[in-house]
Amino acid sequence: MFSYRHAFHAANHADVIKHATVVQVLDYFNQKDGPYWVIDTHAGAGIYDLTDEWASKNSEHESGLDRLLGAKPPPMIARYLETIEQFNPDGEARFYPGSPWLALSLLRPKDRLRLFELHPTEFRNLGLNIASLASEDQKKIQTFERDGFAGLKALLPPPTRRAVTLIDPSYEDKSDYRRTLLCLQEALKRFPTGCYLIWYPLVQRREATEMVRALERLHDVNWLNASLTVHRPSRDGLGLHGSGIFIVNPPWTLQKSLKNTLPWLAETLAQDKFATFTLRSNEAQKQASKGVQK
Ligand code: SAM
Repeated sequence: MFSYRHAFHAANHADVIKHATVVQVLDYFNQKDGPYWVIDTHAGAGIYDLTDEWASKNSEHESGLDRLLGAKPPPMIARYLETIEQFNPDGEARFYPGSPWLALSLLRPKDRLRLFELHPTEFRNLGLNIASLASEDQKKIQTFERDGFAGLKALLPPPTRRAVTLIDPSYEDKSDYRRTLLCLQEALKRFPTGCYLIWYPLVQRREATEMVRALERLHDVNWLNASLTVHRPSRDGLGLHGSGIFIVNPPWTLQKSLKNTLPWLAETLAQDKFATFTLRSNEAQKQASKGVQK
C-alpha cells in the first residue's frame, strides 16, 4: 500500500493553486439554480489540523498558505482565503479544509458530494471527520472506499446533469499519470459537458510531461491549463518544484481570474528567481483552425 498522506502537504503551494481554482469553479456553479454534484476521486481525510504532528513535520504550509496571509491578494486569492477563514473563526490559520471540506462549505442544500478514498487509514479519518459534521452536511455526502479512477464512471452522468469532478491523485505510483488520462477520457465519453479539474505535479519525470502533453491534445472540449513553478527543479530531479491544474469545460470567467492571479502567486510563493507561471488554453488553437476552414 502506498504511503502518501495529504496531511504532510496540507496548505502547501500546490494546495493553494488547486483549492483557489476549486473555489472559483464552485462559485460559478452556484450562480445557476440547478443542483450539481462535486465528485472527488481522491478525497484524502477532508480537513487538516496544521498544528498536528504530520502537518508540522515539514511545515509545508509555511511556503504556501502562510505566505498569503497579511498580503494584499488579487480577488481570486482573497476569495480562497475567505473560505478558509470560515474554518478558523478565531483568526488563527489552524484548520485547513481539503477539497471535500472546501466543497462542503460552498455546496447548497440541494447539491451533493461524492468522495472516493482508497487508503484504509485515510478513509477512516475521512469517516471520523464526516461524523463530526452537522447532519444536513452529512446528508449531502456519499463515500466510497475504492479506487476513484475505476469508480468515477459509475457516477457519470450524474442525475443533476451538472457536476464538477476533481481528479487529484498523489502520483506516487507512476501509473497514476496514464490512469488519470484514461479516467478523464472515459469520463468525457459518458459526460462530455461536465467540468473536470485535474491536478498534476511539476516534477522531472517523463510520465508527467507526457500526461500534460496528452491533455493539451484533447479536442472537442474547452480546456485551460495553469501552472505555478515556485523554484528551480532540484539537481537530483526529485521533489515538486511546482504544480498545475488542468480544467476541462472551465467557467468562462476562470481564464481571466487566473490571468490576474498567477503573476501575483508566482511572486508571492517564489522560493528563488526561477519562480514563474504558465496559462494556456485551446481557445487560440480553435480560433486558428476556424481560420483555416474559412
Ligand atoms: N483531494 C484532496 C485535497 O485536495 O484535499 C487531496 C488528495 S491527496 C493528493 C490523494 C489521495 O488519494 C490520498 O489520500 C491517497 O490515499 C488517495 N488515493 C491514492 N490512490 C487512490 C485511488 N486509486 N483511488 C482513490 N484514492 C486514492
